[in-house]
Amino acid sequence: MSQALSTDVLIVGGGIAGLWLNARLRRAGYATLLAERASLGGGQTVKSQGIIHGGAKYALHGALSGASEAIADMPRRWRAALAGSGELDLSGVSLLSEAHYLWSPGTLAGNLAGFFASKAVRSRVDPVRGDDLPAALQHPAFKGRVYRLNELVVDVPSLIGRLAELAGDGLLAAREIVPLHEGGELVGLLVDGRAIRARRIVLCAGQGNAGLLAALGLDRPAMQTRPLHMVMLAAPTLKPLYAHCLGGGPKPRLTVTSHPAADGQWVWYLGGELAEAEGVARDASQQIAQARRELGELLPWVDLGEARWATLRVDRAEPAQSGLTRPDNAFLAEQGRLLVGWPTKLALAPDLADRVFANLERDAIRPSGQPPLPDLPRPPRALPAWEELLQ
Ligand code: FAD
Repeated sequence: MSQALSTDVLIVGGGIAGLWLNARLRRAGYATLLAERASLGGGQTVKSQGIIHGGAKYALHGALSGASEAIADMPRRWRAALAGSGELDLSGVSLLSEAHYLWSPGTLAGNLAGFFASKAVRSRVDPVRGDDLPAALQHPAFKGRVYRLNELVVDVPSLIGRLAELAGDGLLAAREIVPLHEGGELVGLLVDGRAIRARRIVLCAGQGNAGLLAALGLDRPAMQTRPLHMVMLAAPTLKPLYAHCLGGGPKPRLTVTSHPAADGQWVWYLGGELAEAEGVARDASQQIAQARRELGELLPWVDLGEARWATLRVDRAEPAQSGLTRPDNAFLAEQGRLLVGWPTKLALAPDLADRVFANLERDAIRPSGQPPLPDLPRPPRALPAWEELLQ
């Protein structure tokens, strides 16, 4: 029987939500343990595009309300952390791009006018031309308009690596997690037979939250999943591009991010409308054919003759929303010592941590300091999806 442990906060799930929260708590002096059943970042986090949104994209469909302004502060907070002077020391994490761009092919689309009518983004968008254009758009045949957004793009694998470092010895590989009750009250979790008592238990296991709640006999908060069918390609001819390409509708027609592969080539990772409903209905070869058509139409000068292609199906996990509108804030529900959260975006991990801190402060749960831990089985770190899929 493994030695029983006790901690201030027991976190379940080693995606961005759990890892960020864990690092913030440790920095504040709380004792923490984080249990992960597969690999660190291997859920949605390592499959994300790494854009630290400031809310600009959401203004496109009029969803940027007063409440959604939490997201507007995220680029500043992440920049400070990446510079080593913020709430976490993320110096050493690679920044892929200082900015994300908005790109309108051809003439000014109606939705772009609507976008600029939004007061929320007016001060955060600058037009760019000539040498300031993203490398992939610097071509005489390029006719569109491009705007620089105050949003950055981080290298998610290096982010996961740094947050795993900040977790010190507090990471625990977990195959089976069951509730630990005493006197009818939840006091902790049994992780692979090891009792871990905690003053707060935070479930931030992404899609895994639903199963964990069921094991606890709970059906609230309800979760929704949104399937996506992403496309990735690597080619010697690709140059970096970080941009939302506007279409006729409220959502970006295409969102392109670029990631360095181990063999030195750039990988373009394609999301946006391409990856949503109609894209989900396509099989992999149809989805690749559609992506080829989109790139052929939008960037005809890019030679894709030697490109290697793959698709990736992944579900986004979020709290259930009426009308399937996207939440613009992190979500945290509480029930006694149990907290359940979804950041809803990588960018909003700091907002989720704020909500947990507010709970601890309200209930006067003070840091007890990190006691020495025994040697614990450590979960591995996830590989970038393109290293696994693009052969
Ligand atoms: P996850 O990353 O899914 O992590 C959950 C972890 O919990 C996993 O490691 C899993 O193995 C573990 N787990 C599950 N069940 C259990 C269990 N029973 N016991 C122990 N561990 C368990 N957001 C942005 O801000 N910018 C973007 O550019 C962006 N792009 C995206 C692109 C795609 C294709 C997708 C799918 C999402 C994107 N997002 C983006 C959203 C963002 O990725 C997610 O909101 C965020 O990563 C969720 O983090 P998480 O930690 O809650 O969940």
